[in-house]
Amino acid sequence: MPAMSTDTRPESARGPDGGQPRGPDGGQPRGRERSLIRGADRATSSWGLGDGQAIPWDYAPAPESRDVVTLKERYGLFIGGREVEASDGGTFVSVNPATEEPLAVVARATGADIDRAVAAARRAQRRSWGTLPGRERAKYLFRIARLLQERSREFAVLESMDGGKPIKESRDVDVPLAAAHFWYYAGWADKLEYAFPGRVAKPLGVAAQIIPWNFPLLMLAWKIAPALAAGNTVVLKPASTTPLSALLFADVCRQADLPPGVVNIVPGPGEIGMHLVTHPGVDKVAFTGSTEVGKKIARGVAGSDKGLTLELGGKAANIVFDDAPLDQAVEGIVNGIYFNQGEVCCAGSRLLVQESIQGPLVEKLKDRLATIRVGDPLDKNTDVGAINSKQQLEKITELVAAGTAEGAEIYQPACDLPDRGYFFRPTLFTGVAQSHRIAREEIFGPVLSVLTFRTPEEAIEKANNTPYGLSAGVWTDKGSRILSMVRRLKAGVVWSNTFNRFDPTSPFGGYKESGFGREGGMHGLHAYVRLEDR
Ligand code: NDP
Repeated sequence: MPAMSTDTRPESARGPDGGQPRGPDGGQPRGRERSLIRGADRATSSWGLGDGQAIPWDYAPAPESRDVVTLKERYGLFIGGREVEASDGGTFVSVNPATEEPLAVVARATGADIDRAVAAARRAQRRSWGTLPGRERAKYLFRIARLLQERSREFAVLESMDGGKPIKESRDVDVPLAAAHFWYYAGWADKLEYAFPGRVAKPLGVAAQIIPWNFPLLMLAWKIAPALAAGNTVVLKPASTTPLSALLFADVCRQADLPPGVVNIVPGPGEIGMHLVTHPGVDKVAFTGSTEVGKKIARGVAGSDKGLTLELGGKAANIVFDDAPLDQAVEGIVNGIYFNQGEVCCAGSRLLVQESIQGPLVEKLKDRLATIRVGDPLDKNTDVGAINSKQQLEKITELVAAGTAEGAEIYQPACDLPDRGYFFRPTLFTGVAQSHRIAREEIFGPVLSVLTFRTPEEAIEKANNTPYGLSAGVWTDKGSRILSMVRRLKAGVVWSNTFNRFDPTSPFGGYKESGFGREGGMHGLHAYVRLEDR
């Protein structure tokens, strides 16, 4: 994944503090915020301005056009290739988290609708999709990939409007990666015998897929592409705060002439998700979301012969040794935790820094934080957009308050937040103990906790001191140290001298309370097939 939010302005234009965004009135940050901002105070004096005067710098807005998306007032469920109302006529509203304005009314699936969707998927699996040769399935997947690319701008804008993520991330990461997953798995559809040599790969049948709100289109692609490549059909439930890109994807399925019932999309509440995964007509369950719900789903399918993959929460350690290239590490740390507002299961939320370099590294980080631009997700300059929902903002606010109450030292850069919408400043805590809630619980927000270590052994102990096991990062100049750390870190994915990189060919997943099973690569395909002897 490309590094997030590098400041593209020339050095001369940034000003000595990195050119922090000011409000429309160019005013100084208010009250308590000012005391947290050392970079800004340094800046005003070296610009020859008195205390309290603003630096004469502002950004020209660079908004992406909303006109590329034609929002319908009302969206139905997508069942059997058609858009249909919920059986009881129920609806809910999807809200733009950056403006708090309603975007569209969406049909809210009922248990009867889930039954309909599973029946449609079953029919399609038996009569059309499951009987198609792999090379024919591949053609549809290639077509979907191409359509996603053709309509990429529309998808990117919609994803940012519905979910709050910065347009440069939805444009440069989410949508291209979603298309890449369809390209990749299209390539496997007619080569299953090479993927599993000596075995015959049979589809499992109907897959129930539940996805979260942090990467709505990308998680859809992670789940639908391998399922379809292997000959399964799917019923997918998007998260209630971000249903719109999945419903636009339904349009892509129609455009691609995908046989009716191969993909079914049923927005609705969590209980409907449970109805779906426990449905007797479902053969395979794939879930990405919180550990709490993941455990409920595991209990729900226990005792059945359904396949199950769970991709759950994380509390990743990003470990920086004293021989690491510090400037590069700072970019990786920023990308690791502030990318997508920190609403990332594999976010590097615990920075473990070797004690001897804590001072300079934290200084550099604070300087870098001062250049991060928080605001309108549709502005191409925005680095950190809106938090996905009011509920998530409240959770972040509560955990940050707990961090301060438990004695950690908070730092937030100066930046004026928009008057409306769910926004949170990039936050950094130093003086964090392992017992603090901010070091133990998944915050799922732009909040970094800094801890220190002296020896590699201590780094390993602290990194592994979590119930999660999804990802980790290691920053060092020594290849041998990377290999030795990677072996001992209990995490499904370990990045070295980088962070948050994804590729469709590479498996992703965790263990312990981060779940089990892998998505991506051949491992991801494996989760959707039954292997039989020749
Ligand atoms: P959830 O786990 O509740 O949501 C993920 C998906 O599961 C959504 O589609 C949701 O539907 C659905 N769901 C909710 N309850 C059930 C259920 N009982 N049975 C089946 N499906 C269900 O995450 P939240 O949105 O509540 O976020 C809470 C926390 O979870 C976050 O703060 C974060 O820490 C973590 N999280 C982790 C993610 C990850 O990628 N690992 C992704 C999202 C959240 P609906 O939206 O309708 O409730």
